[in-house]
Amino acid sequence: MRKKLLNQTEQSVFLHALQEMLVRSREADGSLGLLVIRLDDLDRINTSFGYEAGNTLLATFAGQLQGLARKSDRVIRIGTRKFVLLLTEVMNQEHVILAANKIIRTANKPFTLDGRTLTTPVTIGIAICPEHAETAESLLQSAEIALESARREESPYFLYSDSDADDTDLLGMENELDDALENGQVEMYYQPKIRIRDLKPCGAEALMRWTSPMRGFVPPDVFIDLADKTGRIQPLTWFALNTALRQASEWPDIWGALSVSVNVTPNIVDDADLVDLVKNAISMWDTQPDRLVIEVTEGALMTNPEKSFKILKGLRSHGVQISIDDFGTGYSSLSYFKNIPANELKIDKAFVMNMFDDKADEQIVRSVIELAHIFDLGVVAEGVENQATVDLLSELKCDSIQGYYFSRPLPQRDFVAWLENYEPGHPVKG
Ligand code: C2E
Ligand code: CA
Ligand code: CA
Repeated sequence: MRKKLLNQTEQSVFLHALQEMLVRSREADGSLGLLVIRLDDLDRINTSFGYEAGNTLLATFAGQLQGLARKSDRVIRIGTRKFVLLLTEVMNQEHVILAANKIIRTANKPFTLDGRTLTTPVTIGIAICPEHAETAESLLQSAEIALESARREESPYFLYSDSDADDTDLLGMENELDDALENGQVEMYYQPKIRIRDLKPCGAEALMRWTSPMRGFVPPDVFIDLADKTGRIQPLTWFALNTALRQASEWPDIWGALSVSVNVTPNIVDDADLVDLVKNAISMWDTQPDRLVIEVTEGALMTNPEKSFKILKGLRSHGVQISIDDFGTGYSSLSYFKNIPANELKIDKAFVMNMFDDKADEQIVRSVIELAHIFDLGVVAEGVENQATVDLLSELKCDSIQGYYFSRPLPQRDFVAWLENYEPGHPVKG
């Protein structure tokens, strides 16, 4: 595990020193510029080339930054992938922007590492004292808010403006997410998937849980969506994939080799690295490729069908199974089925849970099952909460089911206990 350069005490020492510099600068009627610089590719380099390469990148970048700073400026690393450059004796805004541009140009110059040519793309948030903030803490926060705006706008740098302050709440969550993995706040839970023919478990879906020390439990649809939109989804997905394969290899053999399903977001299914990373994870955990199921929503595929179909085909050619999640919500046309690179469709739980109240929903479930079978695809129904739903889905010839009736998603240890205690036909609720 990498060591952060600043722990809690060091961070407050830094803020204290910064505060002193602010006071001195105010006395001299001067301005200070604070740049928070984020190394955007650190996670990718760590995952693709190892932590050694990541550390070399950090050291190279720290050296470059020192080289650009003047004697009175300060360079400090403040988080796993962030540096602060404090510019003293700032004449005007342009002076700070010029510095930001120099850093970006330097970072974009290719360098060689173990025979590979790499660059270190960065994003920079800028705040100026006294214009934007007068205390050390609020100056740092303003620069962090500007950094988030830059990332959202996909701009290399951003100067703080008051209107960005509305984003503080979301910013807090984005920042916390950055360190959630390293601080062990993220876990995978497992929900069993039951084969309807004999009511035996045939697999499990891995679902992510984040418990933030500040906010408590944050629903996955909230933080995953945020992570996907702000360029933070890759490390979370690799964590999900590796944890799920490792923990699945520890499940007892009572019900045979269970499959494990991992969810991926629209940005991941468009990511050409996905095939290699999945291949590496499979070989690292010595998993049979067909035990891994990648779940991708129907909606995600429709954003860029050509590219994502190609990536899914790449996965399938390595034996990995593909499941189309939340099926029925994406308005696919019939012709879509012909080419769909999948093994399984997962009917969205909204239809399943509403089958008894709304004839149209029952009809949708019935048609998806029939159509899927014509095209040789398996069908999973999620959101099964009672025996009546099990009976109806069995009559409709659905292949497998998932839902609170059998178990809620459980942490590894409880899931193993569930597997040991489960009796087909007598659901044990989690
Ligand atoms: P999803 O992939 O459609 O997952 C199914 C959701 O339905 C899960 O919610 C599950 O706990 C819930 N569920 C299962 N059975 C029942 C039931 O019988 N009744 C009801 N009411 N709900 C049921 P969860 O865990 O809160 O996850 C929400 C969404 O967050 C997921 O929807 C998925 O889109 C996303 N997500 C969760 N974990 C991951 C992950 O590791 N990676 C990615 N990319 N997305 C994830
Ligand atoms: Ca899913
Ligand atoms: Ca779903």
